[in-house]
Amino acid sequence: MPQENQNLEGPDPAVTLAQAAGLAEHLQRVGVQWLPAADPDSVTALAEQLRFAADGSPGEGSEQVAERTPEGTSEQVSAPPAVSPPTVPPAAAPPTVAAGSAQPSTAGPTTGFSLQSDSADPAEPYPGPSLVPEMRAAELAKFSEQVAACTRCEILSQCRTKTVFGEGNVAPRVAFFGEGPGREEDLSGRPFVGKAGQLLTKMIQACKFAREDVYIMNTVKCRPPNNRNPEPTEIENCREFFQAQFEILRPEYIVCLGLVSAQALLSTKLSVGRLRGKFHQYFDSKVLVTYHPSYLLRNPAAKKAAWDDLQLMLRDAGLM
Ligand code: SF4
Repeated sequence: MPQENQNLEGPDPAVTLAQAAGLAEHLQRVGVQWLPAADPDSVTALAEQLRFAADGSPGEGSEQVAERTPEGTSEQVSAPPAVSPPTVPPAAAPPTVAAGSAQPSTAGPTTGFSLQSDSADPAEPYPGPSLVPEMRAAELAKFSEQVAACTRCEILSQCRTKTVFGEGNVAPRVAFFGEGPGREEDLSGRPFVGKAGQLLTKMIQACKFAREDVYIMNTVKCRPPNNRNPEPTEIENCREFFQAQFEILRPEYIVCLGLVSAQALLSTKLSVGRLRGKFHQYFDSKVLVTYHPSYLLRNPAAKKAAWDDLQLMLRDAGLM
């Protein structure tokens, strides 16, 4: 076989088209301004056509897109909806933080909606408009200040050294969602900087991202004493903050790291073993559940399963 024949082969057209579809959706989702302004319906229709050309899945006129599970079966997840132009006021009303109160908020979360796993219902779009990155950063900074002053959880607020709000790209394709700060995080005020954080960084890099490309955050923003799990009331106290973060960030994918964040986000009691290996939905973010890096440090044999989960996301995103 002459060598030059191999050199004539270009990139796989199906892969290229799938990546183009993913990029078009992502640019629209993060509020990139087009000149002239793109018609959201046209962008959605183009993405559908490209996806259809790439993998033959039903695109035009369909609100449901078949996604593959590792077992090769498919289940229905909803196609991301079109978003509004980004020159608009903040998406989420700031939560009212009652200083000195350890009670859960009775006002309810700003979002208050998540689908159970395996739901075939269409995705509910994030409320309000998508913000440009500068406005996202400003809104997140406001919430970070509120978290720093928060005393809703009497024990956690007294034990903490620093609150750990979250950090990273404010217009991310992927947000990693952990449980709560550990000792190193409590001292530094940054998420995932201890041993588990170093492993998470390697997992992110294995996905061909840098830490700065993604957003990293936790369910509760204050360290539980002795690294115990957060109490249900503490999670509910902090729910308003992590929901507001997701409303601002609107990541294409949310990766729940471990049981606490997965159960809190998806409002389920199912185990990580039951939840992993397929997509769930939180508004129009696709949610993947996998093992917490701390668990992987204690159980290295589970690393392969965690990598399988991340590969599921990378394939869906057209990144491998
Ligand atoms: S964990 Fe959240 S709700 Fe509780 S005190 Fe800290 S910031 Fe406030």
